[in-house]
Amino acid sequence: MAHLLGGIEAGGTKFVCAVGDENGNIQKRVKFPTTTPEETMKEVFAFFDQYEVEAIGIGSFGPIDINPESPTYGYVTDTPKLPWKNYNFLGAMKARYDIAYEWTTDVNVAAYGEYKKGAGVGKDNVLYATVGTGIGVGYISHGELYRGRSHPEGGHILMQREAGDDFAGVCPYHGACLEGLAAGPAVERRAGKKGDQLLSTDSVWETEAFYLAQACMTYTLTFSPDVIIFGGGVMKQKQLFPMIRENFLELMHDYVRVPDLDNYIVHVELGDDAGITGSLLAAADVLTK
Ligand code: ADP
Ligand code: ZN
Repeated sequence: MAHLLGGIEAGGTKFVCAVGDENGNIQKRVKFPTTTPEETMKEVFAFFDQYEVEAIGIGSFGPIDINPESPTYGYVTDTPKLPWKNYNFLGAMKARYDIAYEWTTDVNVAAYGEYKKGAGVGKDNVLYATVGTGIGVGYISHGELYRGRSHPEGGHILMQREAGDDFAGVCPYHGACLEGLAAGPAVERRAGKKGDQLLSTDSVWETEAFYLAQACMTYTLTFSPDVIIFGGGVMKQKQLFPMIRENFLELMHDYVRVPDLDNYIVHVELGDDAGITGSLLAAADVLTK
């Protein structure tokens, strides 16, 4: 029997809510901007009030509290999106619908979607990084959503500067971390134009590939994934991929063995659907656990 499941991809810019089946097939979906919890949750409830779903998978922007032992489990915590700071997201959902939930990050559900149905099919360990308004990293370790004490924040790793780069960086916390140097707003600030208005040959992409290759090196050395999948608006610049691979090869000096680079550093296959698909699949899993 097919189950009816719910998914929420709660991004910092927009929310996507969907209902679908245990294979991640989307039957109905809505999208709306992320504003305040009051306004945004009203829309979430208006959507799910129409259906009787058995479980909901939530992938939220963060940082979020995913430690079940913590008194603030289910909360959005230190987000720069102030109306959401210390908001009990999961609690609000549970109060409305007394069903089972998966509660994880937006990037973890995207990683899970890719693991089950996209570029990570057949791999055990899948690292997904989105390069958009920010940079976020999700990880699937041996088929499970990875969780440490909290979730990884692999977008904020420190970078070694490219020679001559004196751009201050745009991360409100660290200035020149990976996100500060290489997320969409950083590209825009460096180049004076939005990323989608730049030529594919613009020199800003060389700088971008230099930093993303360092990120791939760090992820390779710390997580040891089978594949690194990049999504997000900036990665629509497909010319970045060969440039990242080339820089990565140079940086690594053959220190560890990695798969053939064309199959190791790859573009997201489900595109913008990775997150919402993964949230439905994660909801399916909580029913069987
Ligand atoms: P979000 O991170 O908010 O979920 P996106 O992944 O779409 O959303 O990322 C938005 C960022 O990506 C913006 O900084 C935007 O300028 C940049 N971006 C969007 N499309 C492109 C493109 N085709 N090329 C380069 N940058 C892009
Ligand atoms: Zn940072």
